[in-house]
Order: sequence, then C-alpha cells, then structure tokens
Amino acid sequence: MPDSEYLFSLAMFVLGLALGSFANVVISRVPEGRSFVRPGSICPHCASPIRWRDNIPVISWLILRAKCRDCASPISWRYPLVEVASALLWFIAVLAFGVGIQAVIAGFFFWMLLILTFIDIDTMRLPNPIVAVMGAVGMIAAVASQLTGLGLAPLTTTGVIASPFAAAIVGSVTAAGLSWGIAASYERMRGQAGLGMGDVKLLAAIGPFLGPYTVGVLFVGSILGALFVSMNVSSRKDGAGAKVPFGPFLAGAAVLIALFGPEVLSWYLDLVKLT
Ligand SMILES: [Zn+2]
Repeated sequence: MPDSEYLFSLAMFVLGLALGSFANVVISRVPEGRSFVRPGSICPHCASPIRWRDNIPVISWLILRAKCRDCASPISWRYPLVEVASALLWFIAVLAFGVGIQAVIAGFFFWMLLILTFIDIDTMRLPNPIVAVMGAVGMIAAVASQLTGLGLAPLTTTGVIASPFAAAIVGSVTAAGLSWGIAASYERMRGQAGLGMGDVKLLAAIGPFLGPYTVGVLFVGSILGALFVSMNVSSRKDGAGAKVPFGPFLAGAAVLIALFGPEVLSWYLDLVKLT
C-alpha cells in the first residue's frame, strides 16, 4: 500500500469511528423526533451529561467496562458495535474505490445504510428525511459525474448505460417500480404488507449509487431475508415468524453489490457464454 493510500484509509477509519458515534445519536433520537445536535450526549438511565473523555468511540466503552460513570447502569454493546461497523465500512470504501472523492461517497452511502439498518430494527420504519438525504446526495453525485466526467456515482459502472445521470434514474425507477409492483400484488394476495413503502423509497434512494444494479439489491435482499426468516422460524418452537424488517437485508445487499456486483455479473456473463 503506498503512503498516501495508507494515510487516506487511516483517516477514513478514524472519521468512520467518529461518525459511528454520531450514528448512535441519530439512531436513538431521529425516530423520536428529537434533535441530534442538542443536548449533548446523556446517559439514557440517569440523564447525566457524558463527559468528553467518556465519549471516545469504543475506547471509553472499554475503559468504563460498559457501565455509566455516574449511575453504573450498563451501556449497550450496540454503541461500540455501530462505531466499529462504521469505521470498517469507511475503511472498506477506500479499499474498494481507492483514494479520492468516490471513496467518500461510498463511505457516506454505507454509513447511511448502517443508520437505516438499526433504525429499522428498532422501529420497523425507515424515516423519510434520512432516506431522502441519502438519495439526494447520490443524485447530486450522479449529476456532478455527468457534468464533470469524474466517476463519482453510480459506484458501479456497467458500460451499458454510459451516462451516469441516466444510470441513476434507470436504477431508481426500475427498482422502486418493481418493488412497488411486488408490494402491491403481495398485499392483494395475502391481505397484508410484506414489502413496505419504506422499502420502495429506500430502493429509489439506492438507485443513484448503484444504477441498474439496484434491481439486484431487491433480489439479493429478498434471498438474504428469506434465509434469515427460514433459519429463525425453524429455531422457534411455536414456528411463527415475528415481523421482520426488510430494510437491513436491502442495506446489506446494497453494500455487497457496491463491492462485488460488477465482478459477479461479469463472472456470470462469462459462465453463460460458455454454455
Ligand atoms: Zn447513568
């Protein structure tokens, strides 16, 4: 690894840790409609303000041995988990997309998906403002790519649709349209919602980042979700599946496709050509 790449990936890792800490604040406050700027971090049990030295990602949690300094209530392992996951995602963005703005856009995309994953797990909702901000940043990056020729977004290029802006629109519209069609027909057949409108909007917001590959997110996400549900149902004694949020599977599929989508597709096309 050259020095510049080493420094850049280290900087992104540290940025990812700090943004992971911020992600925890967004995850806990945005669904309740609270400001994520004020007040500063407080203990959810005793409401004591958290000192800056106790608010260092991961390290403070380890030093405090997962207990609040004021009331000794346990601090969830989820806080350091989100911080580490965020740092790794920003780091992986550099490995996959190299030194430059595209890696920052990929890191931002992964980071937003991480936030949405945990909010969906907690609340079964994907808040519109967060999904909209993610989609808007992706669309701005696609338009900037169109105007400047810098390859910023979509992160995946196919060569089939040369225009970044067209690829972004095609990705959004096809994936959102297809998932909306599935959601509507499923609801008609079963009288209950499987895919929600939140998932449809999430796919629309993924569109600018993955272009036509966004359709693949729907399929890979469905496979991941089906695997999870089948494993869960077989391990439950009553056999009944609790309602499972779909957003985390779409988010996981989106990260996988951003990292490996083009390689897997070209491998598959080669395979098909051989037969
Ligand atoms: Zn406390």
